[in-house]
Amino acid sequence: MFPFQEKPEPKYPCRIQPKRVCCRPKPKTEGNSKDPESLTFLTLPIHALLTIWFLLKPWYHTSMILKSATYVGADHRMHTQDIRVSGSVISQIQETLDPEEKERIIDCASFIIIPALADCHVHTPDTLLRGTHRDMPLASWGDGSKQGQLQQMLYAYLDEAVGKEEFKTLVLYSYMQYLRQGVGFIVETGQADNSSSILQECAQLIGLKALVDYYDEDSSQTPATATVSQGIHLPEEENLTSELLEEVRQRCVNDHPYLMTHCLETSWRRTQVQEKFGMSTVELLAKKHILDSKAILFHCVEASEQDIGLLAKHQANVVHCPVSNTRSGAGGMNLCAMLDQGINITLGTDYLSHDMWETMRTTYGELKQGMKPHLYDACTVLSMATRNASPFASETSYQGTIEEGSGADLLFLNAHHAISPIIDNPDFSNATHNLLIYARPEMITHVMVNGKWVIRNKVFVTVDEQEILKAYAEVVTKLFAEDY
Ligand SMILES: [Zn+2]
Repeated sequence: MFPFQEKPEPKYPCRIQPKRVCCRPKPKTEGNSKDPESLTFLTLPIHALLTIWFLLKPWYHTSMILKSATYVGADHRMHTQDIRVSGSVISQIQETLDPEEKERIIDCASFIIIPALADCHVHTPDTLLRGTHRDMPLASWGDGSKQGQLQQMLYAYLDEAVGKEEFKTLVLYSYMQYLRQGVGFIVETGQADNSSSILQECAQLIGLKALVDYYDEDSSQTPATATVSQGIHLPEEENLTSELLEEVRQRCVNDHPYLMTHCLETSWRRTQVQEKFGMSTVELLAKKHILDSKAILFHCVEASEQDIGLLAKHQANVVHCPVSNTRSGAGGMNLCAMLDQGINITLGTDYLSHDMWETMRTTYGELKQGMKPHLYDACTVLSMATRNASPFASETSYQGTIEEGSGADLLFLNAHHAISPIIDNPDFSNATHNLLIYARPEMITHVMVNGKWVIRNKVFVTVDEQEILKAYAEVVTKLFAEDY
Protein backbone atom coordinates (compact mmCIF):
# COMPACT_ATOMS: atom_id res chain seq x y z
CA MET A 1 0.00 0.00 0.00
CA PHE A 2 0.92 3.61 -0.41
CA PRO A 3 2.74 4.88 2.69
CA PHE A 4 0.23 7.40 3.97
CA GLN A 5 1.09 9.73 6.78
CA GLU A 6 -1.48 10.80 9.31
CA LYS A 7 -1.86 14.15 7.60
CA PRO A 8 -0.46 13.48 4.18
CA GLU A 9 1.00 16.29 2.17
CA PRO A 10 0.19 15.85 -1.49
CA LYS A 11 3.17 14.64 -3.49
CA TYR A 12 1.93 16.49 -6.49
CA PRO A 13 -0.67 19.19 -6.90
CA CYS A 14 -4.26 18.29 -7.43
CA ARG A 15 -4.74 20.34 -10.53
CA ILE A 16 -3.31 20.73 -13.95
CA GLN A 17 -0.96 23.65 -13.68
CA PRO A 18 2.65 22.60 -13.92
CA LYS A 19 3.90 23.17 -10.40
CA ARG A 20 3.29 24.87 -7.13
CA VAL A 21 4.89 28.26 -6.85
CA CYS A 22 5.06 30.52 -3.86
CA CYS A 23 1.59 31.62 -2.99
CA ARG A 24 0.38 35.00 -2.04
CA PRO A 25 -0.39 34.79 1.67
CA LYS A 26 -4.08 34.69 2.39
CA PRO A 27 -5.51 34.85 5.89
CA LYS A 28 -7.11 31.61 6.85
CA THR A 29 -10.70 31.61 7.87
CA GLU A 30 -11.71 29.99 11.09
CA GLY A 31 -12.09 26.24 10.83
CA ASN A 32 -10.62 26.23 7.37
CA SER A 33 -9.65 22.56 7.29
CA LYS A 34 -11.20 20.55 4.50
CA ASP A 35 -11.26 17.63 6.92
CA PRO A 36 -14.55 15.90 6.10
CA GLU A 37 -14.92 14.86 9.74
CA SER A 38 -15.42 18.49 10.64
CA LEU A 39 -17.94 19.21 7.93
CA THR A 40 -21.35 20.40 8.88
CA PHE A 41 -22.95 20.15 5.52
CA LEU A 42 -25.09 22.92 4.25
CA THR A 43 -28.46 21.33 4.62
CA LEU A 44 -32.02 22.37 4.18
CA PRO A 45 -33.98 23.46 7.25
CA ILE A 46 -35.82 20.48 8.66
CA HIS A 47 -39.28 21.94 8.05
CA ALA A 48 -38.39 22.55 4.41
CA LEU A 49 -37.14 18.97 4.10
CA LEU A 50 -40.36 17.61 5.54
CA THR A 51 -42.48 19.76 3.25
CA ILE A 52 -40.51 18.66 0.20
CA TRP A 53 -40.69 15.05 1.30
CA PHE A 54 -44.48 15.03 1.59
CA LEU A 55 -44.87 16.87 -1.70
CA LEU A 56 -42.52 14.58 -3.55
CA LYS A 57 -43.05 11.34 -1.68
CA PRO A 58 -44.96 9.75 -4.55
CA TRP A 59 -41.97 10.29 -6.84
CA TYR A 60 -39.74 8.33 -4.48
CA HIS A 61 -41.76 5.16 -4.77
CA THR A 62 -39.32 2.35 -5.40
CA SER A 63 -41.09 1.34 -8.58
CA MET A 64 -42.63 3.49 -11.30
CA ILE A 65 -43.75 3.23 -14.88
CA LEU A 66 -42.62 5.83 -17.37
CA LYS A 67 -45.73 5.74 -19.54
CA SER A 68 -45.57 6.31 -23.31
CA ALA A 69 -41.90 7.10 -23.09
CA THR A 70 -40.25 8.14 -26.33
CA TYR A 71 -36.60 7.32 -25.81
CA VAL A 72 -33.33 6.73 -27.64
CA GLY A 73 -32.59 3.06 -27.29
CA ALA A 74 -29.31 1.17 -27.26
CA ASP A 75 -29.67 0.89 -31.04
CA HIS A 76 -29.69 4.72 -31.29
CA ARG A 77 -33.21 4.59 -32.68
CA MET A 78 -36.28 6.27 -31.27
CA HIS A 79 -38.84 4.03 -29.54
CA THR A 80 -42.10 4.72 -27.75
CA GLN A 81 -42.84 2.18 -25.02
CA ASP A 82 -43.49 1.90 -21.30
CA ILE A 83 -40.41 1.75 -19.07
CA ARG A 84 -40.49 0.33 -15.56
CA VAL A 85 -37.94 1.67 -13.10
CA SER A 86 -37.49 -0.52 -10.04
CA GLY A 87 -35.23 0.93 -7.41
CA SER A 88 -32.12 2.14 -9.21
CA VAL A 89 -32.48 0.19 -12.46
CA ILE A 90 -34.58 -0.02 -15.59
CA SER A 91 -36.24 -3.36 -14.94
CA GLN A 92 -38.67 -3.71 -17.85
CA ILE A 93 -39.45 -2.15 -21.22
CA GLN A 94 -42.58 -3.21 -23.10
CA GLU A 95 -45.17 -1.79 -25.44
CA THR A 96 -47.58 -1.57 -22.50
CA LEU A 97 -46.98 -2.24 -18.83
CA ASP A 98 -49.78 -2.65 -16.30
CA PRO A 99 -49.07 -0.97 -12.99
CA GLU A 100 -48.62 -3.03 -9.89
CA GLU A 101 -50.26 -2.03 -6.64
CA LYS A 102 -49.19 1.47 -5.54
CA GLU A 103 -46.87 1.75 -8.48
CA ARG A 104 -46.50 5.31 -9.65
CA ILE A 105 -47.29 6.13 -13.28
CA ILE A 106 -45.46 9.04 -14.88
CA ASP A 107 -46.92 10.33 -18.14
CA CYS A 108 -43.92 10.86 -20.40
CA ALA A 109 -45.69 11.61 -23.66
CA SER A 110 -44.32 15.14 -23.83
CA PHE A 111 -40.67 14.15 -23.38
CA ILE A 112 -37.79 12.70 -25.31
CA ILE A 113 -35.81 10.53 -22.89
CA ILE A 114 -32.10 9.94 -23.34
CA PRO A 115 -29.41 8.49 -21.06
CA ALA A 116 -27.81 10.90 -18.61
CA LEU A 117 -24.46 12.10 -19.94
CA ALA A 118 -20.99 11.23 -18.67
CA ASP A 119 -18.45 14.04 -18.32
CA CYS A 120 -15.27 12.04 -17.90
CA HIS A 121 -12.87 14.81 -17.00
CA VAL A 122 -13.69 17.61 -14.56
CA HIS A 123 -11.75 19.62 -11.98
CA THR A 124 -14.11 20.75 -9.24
CA PRO A 125 -14.30 23.43 -7.98
CA ASP A 126 -12.90 25.59 -10.75
CA THR A 127 -15.59 28.19 -11.31
CA LEU A 128 -13.72 30.87 -9.32
CA LEU A 129 -10.96 30.57 -11.91
CA ARG A 130 -13.19 31.42 -14.87
CA GLY A 131 -11.29 33.62 -17.29
CA THR A 132 -8.14 33.76 -15.19
CA HIS A 133 -6.20 31.43 -17.52
CA ARG A 134 -7.28 33.05 -20.74
CA ASP A 135 -4.75 33.32 -23.55
CA MET A 136 -1.95 31.83 -21.43
CA PRO A 137 -0.03 28.62 -22.23
CA LEU A 138 -0.35 25.85 -19.66
CA ALA A 139 3.39 25.87 -18.97
CA SER A 140 3.15 29.48 -17.76
CA TRP A 141 0.22 29.08 -15.38
CA GLY A 142 1.01 30.44 -11.95
CA ASP A 143 4.07 32.37 -13.14
CA GLY A 144 5.24 35.75 -11.82
CA SER A 145 3.07 37.87 -14.10
CA LYS A 146 0.04 39.74 -12.77
CA GLN A 147 -2.20 37.07 -14.29
CA GLY A 148 -0.05 34.30 -12.82
CA GLN A 149 -0.18 35.94 -9.38
CA LEU A 150 -3.95 36.07 -9.56
CA GLN A 151 -3.97 32.35 -10.37
CA GLN A 152 -1.62 31.70 -7.45
CA MET A 153 -3.93 33.55 -5.11
CA LEU A 154 -6.88 31.44 -6.19
CA TYR A 155 -4.92 28.17 -6.02
CA ALA A 156 -3.80 29.08 -2.49
CA TYR A 157 -7.33 29.99 -1.48
CA LEU A 158 -8.69 26.65 -2.69
CA ASP A 159 -5.81 24.65 -1.20
CA GLU A 160 -5.40 26.35 2.14
CA ALA A 161 -7.63 29.27 3.03
CA VAL A 162 -11.08 28.19 2.00
CA GLY A 163 -13.47 27.46 4.84
CA LYS A 164 -15.09 24.06 4.98
CA GLU A 165 -18.60 25.32 4.28
CA GLU A 166 -17.33 27.61 1.55
CA PHE A 167 -15.59 24.72 -0.16
CA LYS A 168 -18.72 22.66 -0.08
CA THR A 169 -20.69 25.58 -1.52
CA LEU A 170 -18.22 25.85 -4.40
CA VAL A 171 -18.45 22.13 -5.14
CA LEU A 172 -22.24 21.96 -4.96
CA TYR A 173 -22.51 25.04 -7.16
CA SER A 174 -20.42 23.25 -9.79
CA TYR A 175 -22.32 20.00 -9.43
CA MET A 176 -25.57 21.85 -10.02
CA GLN A 177 -24.13 23.17 -13.28
CA TYR A 178 -23.19 19.65 -14.40
CA LEU A 179 -26.62 18.26 -13.57
CA ARG A 180 -28.35 21.15 -15.36
CA GLN A 181 -26.34 20.07 -18.41
CA GLY A 182 -27.76 16.57 -18.04
CA VAL A 183 -24.57 15.04 -16.70
CA GLY A 184 -25.28 12.11 -14.39
CA PHE A 185 -21.78 10.66 -14.09
CA ILE A 186 -18.42 12.42 -13.75
CA VAL A 187 -14.79 11.45 -13.49
CA GLU A 188 -13.76 13.90 -10.81
CA THR A 189 -10.07 14.83 -10.81
CA GLY A 190 -10.39 17.68 -8.34
CA GLN A 191 -8.85 21.10 -8.15
CA ALA A 192 -7.72 21.57 -4.55
CA ASP A 193 -5.33 19.49 -2.50
CA ASN A 194 -6.77 16.95 -0.06
CA SER A 195 -10.33 17.50 -1.16
CA SER A 196 -11.31 14.11 -2.62
CA SER A 197 -13.43 12.96 0.30
CA ILE A 198 -15.43 16.20 0.28
CA LEU A 199 -15.95 15.87 -3.45
CA GLN A 200 -17.23 12.36 -2.86
CA GLU A 201 -19.60 13.48 -0.11
CA CYS A 202 -20.94 16.34 -2.22
CA ALA A 203 -21.56 14.02 -5.18
CA GLN A 204 -23.39 11.70 -2.83
CA LEU A 205 -25.39 14.55 -1.33
CA ILE A 206 -26.62 16.02 -4.60
CA GLY A 207 -27.13 12.65 -6.27
CA LEU A 208 -24.42 12.69 -8.94
CA LYS A 209 -22.62 9.47 -9.84
CA ALA A 210 -18.85 9.82 -9.81
CA LEU A 211 -15.49 8.18 -10.05
CA VAL A 212 -13.39 10.30 -7.70
CA ASP A 213 -9.65 10.62 -8.16
CA TYR A 214 -8.03 10.23 -4.72
CA TYR A 215 -4.48 11.04 -5.87
CA ASP A 216 -2.27 9.91 -2.96
CA GLU A 217 -4.92 10.61 -0.33
CA ASP A 218 -6.06 7.97 2.11
CA SER A 219 -9.62 7.01 1.21
CA SER A 220 -10.13 4.55 4.06
CA GLN A 221 -12.27 7.01 6.02
CA THR A 222 -14.55 7.56 3.05
CA PRO A 223 -15.25 4.19 1.48
CA ALA A 224 -16.75 3.92 -1.98
CA THR A 225 -20.54 3.78 -2.18
CA ALA A 226 -23.12 2.44 -4.61
CA THR A 227 -22.90 5.65 -6.65
CA VAL A 228 -19.37 6.92 -6.03
CA SER A 229 -16.28 4.86 -6.82
CA GLN A 230 -12.63 5.75 -6.39
CA GLY A 231 -9.37 5.77 -8.30
CA ILE A 232 -5.78 6.97 -8.06
CA HIS A 233 -3.61 9.36 -10.05
CA LEU A 234 -0.32 9.14 -11.86
CA PRO A 235 1.51 12.45 -11.33
CA GLU A 236 1.52 14.75 -14.33
CA GLU A 237 4.50 14.39 -16.66
CA GLU A 238 6.27 17.48 -15.29
CA ASN A 239 6.00 16.13 -11.72
CA LEU A 240 6.65 12.48 -12.46
CA THR A 241 9.81 10.90 -11.04
CA SER A 242 11.06 7.32 -11.05
CA GLU A 243 10.21 7.05 -7.35
CA LEU A 244 6.63 8.28 -7.78
CA LEU A 245 6.16 6.04 -10.79
CA GLU A 246 7.29 3.04 -8.74
CA GLU A 247 4.88 3.94 -5.91
CA VAL A 248 1.99 4.13 -8.34
CA ARG A 249 3.05 0.89 -10.01
CA GLN A 250 3.06 -0.85 -6.65
CA ARG A 251 -0.44 0.39 -5.89
CA CYS A 252 -1.60 -0.86 -9.27
CA VAL A 253 -0.03 -4.26 -8.67
CA ASN A 254 -1.56 -4.53 -5.20
CA ASP A 255 -5.04 -3.10 -5.75
CA HIS A 256 -5.52 -2.74 -9.52
CA PRO A 257 -7.37 0.57 -9.12
CA TYR A 258 -8.53 2.92 -11.83
CA LEU A 259 -5.48 4.95 -12.77
CA MET A 260 -5.98 8.47 -14.10
CA THR A 261 -3.64 11.10 -15.46
CA HIS A 262 -3.24 13.90 -17.95
CA CYS A 263 -1.45 12.15 -20.76
CA LEU A 264 0.53 13.89 -23.49
CA GLU A 265 -1.75 16.92 -23.35
CA THR A 266 0.76 19.34 -24.88
CA SER A 267 4.08 19.18 -26.69
CA TRP A 268 5.68 20.70 -23.57
CA ARG A 269 4.42 17.81 -21.47
CA ARG A 270 5.55 15.28 -24.04
CA THR A 271 9.02 16.82 -23.94
CA GLN A 272 9.02 16.62 -20.14
CA VAL A 273 8.46 12.86 -20.07
CA GLN A 274 10.71 12.20 -23.06
CA GLU A 275 13.62 13.99 -21.40
CA LYS A 276 13.20 12.14 -18.10
CA PHE A 277 12.36 8.66 -19.30
CA GLY A 278 13.37 8.59 -22.96
CA MET A 279 9.88 7.59 -24.05
CA SER A 280 6.29 8.79 -24.14
CA THR A 281 3.91 8.44 -21.21
CA VAL A 282 1.98 5.75 -23.06
CA GLU A 283 5.15 3.77 -23.73
CA LEU A 284 6.20 4.23 -20.11
CA LEU A 285 2.90 2.91 -18.75
CA ALA A 286 3.04 -0.04 -21.12
CA LYS A 287 6.61 -0.80 -20.11
CA LYS A 288 5.57 -0.78 -16.43
CA HIS A 289 2.57 -3.02 -17.17
CA ILE A 290 0.09 -0.45 -15.91
CA LEU A 291 -1.47 0.39 -19.25
CA ASP A 292 -4.69 -1.58 -19.31
CA SER A 293 -8.46 -1.29 -19.26
CA LYS A 294 -8.34 0.50 -15.91
CA ALA A 295 -6.18 3.32 -17.25
CA ILE A 296 -8.13 6.54 -17.95
CA LEU A 297 -5.99 8.98 -19.90
CA PHE A 298 -7.01 12.59 -20.38
CA HIS A 299 -6.30 14.47 -23.63
CA CYS A 300 -3.65 12.35 -25.49
CA VAL A 301 -3.24 15.19 -27.99
CA GLU A 302 0.43 14.40 -28.57
CA ALA A 303 -0.04 10.64 -28.87
CA SER A 304 2.03 9.30 -31.75
CA GLU A 305 0.99 6.56 -34.14
CA GLN A 306 2.94 4.14 -31.97
CA ASP A 307 1.20 5.42 -28.83
CA ILE A 308 -2.19 4.97 -30.47
CA GLY A 309 -1.27 1.39 -31.33
CA LEU A 310 -0.32 0.74 -27.69
CA LEU A 311 -3.50 2.35 -26.35
CA ALA A 312 -5.53 0.03 -28.57
CA LYS A 313 -3.48 -3.05 -27.78
CA HIS A 314 -3.79 -2.54 -24.03
CA GLN A 315 -7.45 -1.45 -24.14
CA ALA A 316 -6.81 1.79 -22.30
CA ASN A 317 -9.53 4.45 -22.09
CA VAL A 318 -9.01 7.89 -23.60
CA VAL A 319 -10.93 11.00 -22.55
CA HIS A 320 -11.21 13.42 -25.42
CA CYS A 321 -11.50 17.09 -24.39
CA PRO A 322 -11.89 18.99 -27.68
CA VAL A 323 -13.08 22.33 -26.33
CA SER A 324 -10.39 22.44 -23.65
CA ASN A 325 -7.73 21.40 -26.17
CA THR A 326 -8.74 24.18 -28.53
CA ARG A 327 -8.92 26.95 -25.94
CA SER A 328 -5.68 25.98 -24.21
CA GLY A 329 -3.87 25.83 -27.52
CA ALA A 330 -2.95 22.19 -26.93
CA GLY A 331 -4.16 21.30 -30.41
CA GLY A 332 -6.31 18.55 -31.82
CA MET A 333 -6.25 14.89 -30.82
CA ASN A 334 -6.16 12.40 -33.68
CA LEU A 335 -9.69 11.27 -32.99
CA CYS A 336 -10.40 9.31 -36.16
CA ALA A 337 -7.11 7.42 -35.94
CA MET A 338 -8.04 6.34 -32.42
CA LEU A 339 -11.54 5.35 -33.45
CA ASP A 340 -10.12 3.41 -36.38
CA GLN A 341 -8.03 1.44 -33.87
CA GLY A 342 -11.09 0.67 -31.74
CA ILE A 343 -9.91 2.65 -28.70
CA ASN A 344 -12.62 3.35 -26.13
CA ILE A 345 -13.04 7.12 -26.25
CA THR A 346 -15.16 9.17 -23.87
CA LEU A 347 -15.67 12.92 -23.62
CA GLY A 348 -14.63 15.44 -20.99
CA THR A 349 -15.09 19.18 -20.54
CA ASP A 350 -11.93 19.46 -18.40
CA TYR A 351 -11.28 22.86 -16.94
CA LEU A 352 -13.17 26.12 -16.50
CA SER A 353 -15.92 25.40 -18.98
CA HIS A 354 -18.38 22.56 -18.49
CA ASP A 355 -20.68 22.71 -21.46
CA MET A 356 -21.09 19.06 -22.40
CA TRP A 357 -23.32 19.91 -25.34
CA GLU A 358 -20.67 22.19 -26.80
CA THR A 359 -18.13 19.42 -26.28
CA MET A 360 -20.37 16.90 -28.04
CA ARG A 361 -21.10 19.16 -30.98
CA THR A 362 -17.43 20.12 -31.31
CA THR A 363 -16.57 16.43 -31.44
CA TYR A 364 -19.18 15.90 -34.14
CA GLY A 365 -17.59 18.70 -36.16
CA GLU A 366 -14.18 17.09 -35.78
CA LEU A 367 -15.52 13.79 -37.08
CA LYS A 368 -16.81 15.52 -40.17
CA GLN A 369 -13.26 16.64 -40.95
CA GLY A 370 -12.07 13.04 -40.94
CA MET A 371 -13.22 12.20 -44.46
CA LYS A 372 -15.47 9.45 -43.09
CA PRO A 373 -18.80 11.23 -42.69
CA HIS A 374 -20.84 8.02 -42.85
CA LEU A 375 -18.59 6.00 -40.58
CA TYR A 376 -18.54 8.35 -37.59
CA ASP A 377 -21.67 10.30 -36.88
CA ALA A 378 -23.91 11.61 -34.11
CA CYS A 379 -24.36 8.06 -32.80
CA THR A 380 -20.58 7.85 -32.35
CA VAL A 381 -20.63 11.09 -30.38
CA LEU A 382 -23.59 10.09 -28.21
CA SER A 383 -21.83 6.82 -27.39
CA MET A 384 -18.72 8.74 -26.36
CA ALA A 385 -20.85 10.96 -24.12
CA THR A 386 -22.73 8.07 -22.51
CA ARG A 387 -22.12 4.32 -22.81
CA ASN A 388 -18.37 4.48 -23.50
CA ALA A 389 -17.96 5.51 -19.85
CA SER A 390 -19.46 2.24 -18.66
CA PRO A 391 -16.15 0.31 -18.53
CA PHE A 392 -15.06 2.51 -15.64
CA ALA A 393 -18.48 3.55 -14.32
CA SER A 394 -19.93 0.11 -13.77
CA GLU A 395 -19.32 0.23 -9.99
CA THR A 396 -21.86 3.04 -9.89
CA SER A 397 -24.26 1.12 -12.18
CA TYR A 398 -23.98 3.90 -14.76
CA GLN A 399 -24.26 2.28 -18.17
CA GLY A 400 -25.32 5.15 -20.39
CA THR A 401 -28.00 3.18 -22.21
CA ILE A 402 -31.75 2.79 -21.96
CA GLU A 403 -32.39 -0.93 -21.90
CA GLU A 404 -33.49 -3.50 -19.37
CA GLY A 405 -30.91 -3.92 -16.64
CA SER A 406 -29.29 -0.50 -17.08
CA GLY A 407 -29.00 1.95 -14.23
CA ALA A 408 -31.91 4.40 -14.29
CA ASP A 409 -29.91 7.50 -15.20
CA LEU A 410 -32.22 9.46 -17.46
CA LEU A 411 -32.82 12.89 -18.94
CA PHE A 412 -36.31 14.05 -19.83
CA LEU A 413 -36.17 16.68 -22.56
CA ASN A 414 -39.08 18.79 -23.64
CA ALA A 415 -37.69 18.70 -27.15
CA HIS A 416 -40.30 17.28 -29.52
CA HIS A 417 -40.66 20.53 -31.44
CA ALA A 418 -37.01 21.50 -31.37
CA ILE A 419 -35.75 18.30 -32.92
CA SER A 420 -38.62 17.68 -35.35
CA PRO A 421 -39.11 16.34 -37.90
CA ILE A 422 -37.88 12.99 -36.70
CA ILE A 423 -37.55 10.49 -39.51
CA ASP A 424 -36.80 7.10 -38.06
CA ASN A 425 -37.17 4.03 -40.24
CA PRO A 426 -34.93 1.07 -41.07
CA ASP A 427 -33.42 2.85 -44.06
CA PHE A 428 -32.82 6.25 -42.54
CA SER A 429 -32.88 7.86 -39.12
CA ASN A 430 -32.11 11.42 -38.12
CA ALA A 431 -33.17 10.94 -34.48
CA THR A 432 -29.77 10.98 -32.76
CA HIS A 433 -28.43 13.58 -35.16
CA ASN A 434 -31.27 15.97 -34.48
CA LEU A 435 -30.94 15.50 -30.73
CA LEU A 436 -27.25 16.29 -30.86
CA ILE A 437 -27.55 19.30 -33.13
CA TYR A 438 -30.83 20.89 -32.06
CA ALA A 439 -31.44 19.96 -28.42
CA ARG A 440 -30.22 22.26 -25.66
CA PRO A 441 -29.73 21.69 -21.92
CA GLU A 442 -32.48 24.23 -21.25
CA MET A 443 -34.90 21.63 -22.60
CA ILE A 444 -34.07 19.23 -19.77
CA THR A 445 -37.09 19.19 -17.48
CA HIS A 446 -36.28 16.24 -15.21
CA VAL A 447 -33.04 14.47 -14.34
CA MET A 448 -33.14 11.04 -12.78
CA VAL A 449 -29.97 9.48 -11.38
CA ASN A 450 -29.93 5.99 -9.93
CA GLY A 451 -33.72 5.82 -10.10
CA LYS A 452 -34.18 9.01 -8.06
CA TRP A 453 -35.24 12.46 -9.14
CA VAL A 454 -32.42 14.95 -8.81
CA ILE A 455 -34.14 17.65 -10.85
CA ARG A 456 -37.93 17.58 -11.11
CA ASN A 457 -39.76 20.18 -13.20
CA LYS A 458 -36.45 22.07 -13.44
CA VAL A 459 -36.17 22.32 -9.64
CA PHE A 460 -33.48 20.57 -7.62
CA VAL A 461 -34.93 17.97 -5.30
CA THR A 462 -31.76 17.02 -3.44
CA VAL A 463 -30.39 20.44 -2.50
CA ASP A 464 -31.68 23.96 -1.99
CA GLU A 465 -30.45 25.65 -5.16
CA GLN A 466 -31.26 29.18 -4.04
CA GLU A 467 -29.35 28.75 -0.78
CA ILE A 468 -26.31 27.47 -2.65
CA LEU A 469 -26.45 30.29 -5.21
CA LYS A 470 -26.69 32.84 -2.41
CA ALA A 471 -23.78 31.31 -0.52
CA TYR A 472 -21.74 31.10 -3.73
CA ALA A 473 -22.33 34.79 -4.49
CA GLU A 474 -21.13 35.66 -0.99
CA VAL A 475 -17.89 33.71 -1.53
CA VAL A 476 -17.26 35.48 -4.84
CA THR A 477 -17.99 38.90 -3.32
CA LYS A 478 -15.70 38.26 -0.38
CA LEU A 479 -12.87 36.85 -2.45
CA PHE A 480 -12.84 39.52 -5.12
CA ALA A 481 -13.57 42.48 -2.89
CA GLU A 482 -9.93 43.50 -3.11
CA ASP A 483 -8.66 45.01 -6.33
CA TYR A 484 -6.57 42.35 -8.00
ZN1 LIG B 1 -7.58 18.33 -16.74
